[in-house]
Amino acid sequence: MNALVAAPDSVAIKARARELGFDVCGITSADPARHADFFRQWSADGKAGEMQWLARNPDRRTDPQAVLPGARSIIVAGLNYWQPQPEGRGRVARYALGDDYHHILLEKLAALAAAITEAGEQSKVYVDTGPILEKPLAERAGIGWQGKSTMLIHPKLGPWLLIGEILTTLELEADPPARDHCGSCSRCISACPTGAITAPYQLDARRCIAYLTIELKGSIPEELRPLIGDRVYGCDECLDVCPWNRFAQTTREARFLAPPEESGRDRLRDLLEITPAEFKRRFANSPILRVKRRGLLRNVCVVLGNIGTAEDLPALEKAAREEEPLVREHAEWAIRRIKG
Ligand code: SF4
Ligand code: SF4
Repeated sequence: MNALVAAPDSVAIKARARELGFDVCGITSADPARHADFFRQWSADGKAGEMQWLARNPDRRTDPQAVLPGARSIIVAGLNYWQPQPEGRGRVARYALGDDYHHILLEKLAALAAAITEAGEQSKVYVDTGPILEKPLAERAGIGWQGKSTMLIHPKLGPWLLIGEILTTLELEADPPARDHCGSCSRCISACPTGAITAPYQLDARRCIAYLTIELKGSIPEELRPLIGDRVYGCDECLDVCPWNRFAQTTREARFLAPPEESGRDRLRDLLEITPAEFKRRFANSPILRVKRRGLLRNVCVVLGNIGTAEDLPALEKAAREEEPLVREHAEWAIRRIKG
């Protein structure tokens, strides 16, 4: 393909990323991911639980050349999504309070990649649904380090980054990799309610509340339900306790913010009574759509079983008559817990 315009360099790419609203942007080479062997072992040990999509195509996930032959560079760009938790019963992980980040990031990455394709080079855009390992790449691109919680930590924005990548055949100057600043801290390990961080830098996804409330499709193991506490969707515990939070700022992306009506309402009972049509309408643009109504109601029942009162029993008794066996089973468990 003939180049229509001059190819942008690293400086121009980063300036364009800032214009598009990205909070961070770094560049690395398209060499295979450093943690490739660790990742293969992690999925072979079954620690991905039901997330079989993660274990599929390990070569594609760890070698950028298998995704875009001739790739020379990877641009990693991210958005800060921190915001205060809305008041009211039941917590939702902050990334899921507003609109689905996949659409927002993909739209911005596509705009960033346009400068590359206009210059006749190839590019491929990814946001965690894609087949590449993101956090080790972000670390290599100098954005932050993968902390003991396995989350990506930025020295100024803390662990509140959503990232995406552009693989490109364009040769760009790489940034120096980020250094690990966890030091002797182990707050995330001690704070994890389920002991899912089994050792520094090691996560057993099968025990993680994010997995249990989002990825797991069936029944939540009974022994883990009490540990879920008031978390309806995902968990921010290991992020909240990280000392690198101290400079965290509210996101500049309005679409990440919780709708104002989220604050102060009785979210739990509202959700338990939501009809299928209301669910589709209310969560049309939300990451919560992914767990479907049955998954959300299952989670609400678990939370009510942990923090509910006698006043929640009528709504739970209604849920125990739902058509969906998954909801019925969790509602019955919650009723037993409250009555017990
Ligand atoms: S998200 Fe929650 S459950 Fe998962 S590792 Fe972090 S603290 Fe533990
Ligand atoms: S809480 Fe401490 S150990 Fe965990 S990621 Fe943050 S700095 Fe690292």
